[in-house]
Amino acid sequence: MAVTRTFSIIKPDATKRNLTGAVTKMLEDAGLRVVASKRIHMTRDQAEGFYAVHKDRPFFGELVDFMISGPVVVQVLEGEGAMQRNRDIMGATNPKDAAPGTIRAELAESIEANTVHGSDSDENAAIEIAYFFKPEELVG
Ligand code: ATP
Ligand code: MG
Repeated sequence: MAVTRTFSIIKPDATKRNLTGAVTKMLEDAGLRVVASKRIHMTRDQAEGFYAVHKDRPFFGELVDFMISGPVVVQVLEGEGAMQRNRDIMGATNPKDAAPGTIRAELAESIEANTVHGSDSDENAAIEIAYFFKPEELVG
């Protein structure tokens, strides 16, 4: 399988509980390599732009409020089939439905405070990486 890249966010519920390292270890143990990483506090405009695809969903306002409630860690992950590999280790959106051993099953607090974001296609991964990173920030 080809080595590809995907985009990940360690969400505010995780940074607040000092779980950046714990999440990153689970990603690395799943065969993903962090090739870019930075801790940022998103502005409302940045979060609304990032989640524009969800703007008509009833939880949009709360989701944006949550994503700007504290710092996040945005990352680019590399590995064989990186997008799907990351989705697999993340687990289902709602931690109650997430398989044991996944990040959301082990660490998430709720469907909203669910610890991680991961791109859902290679196309969206490229868009999301470009939203937060300049090409020269991807250092391998
Ligand atoms: P993400 O995009 O964060 O990786 P996902 O792809 O599993 O998660 P999406 O359907 O894209 O899930 O929803 C984006 C985010 O919106 C979810 O991660 C979650 O934080 C929030 N969310 C989704 N559904 C609900 C809901 N019913 N109530 C509250 N928040 C929700
Ligand atoms: Mg999604």
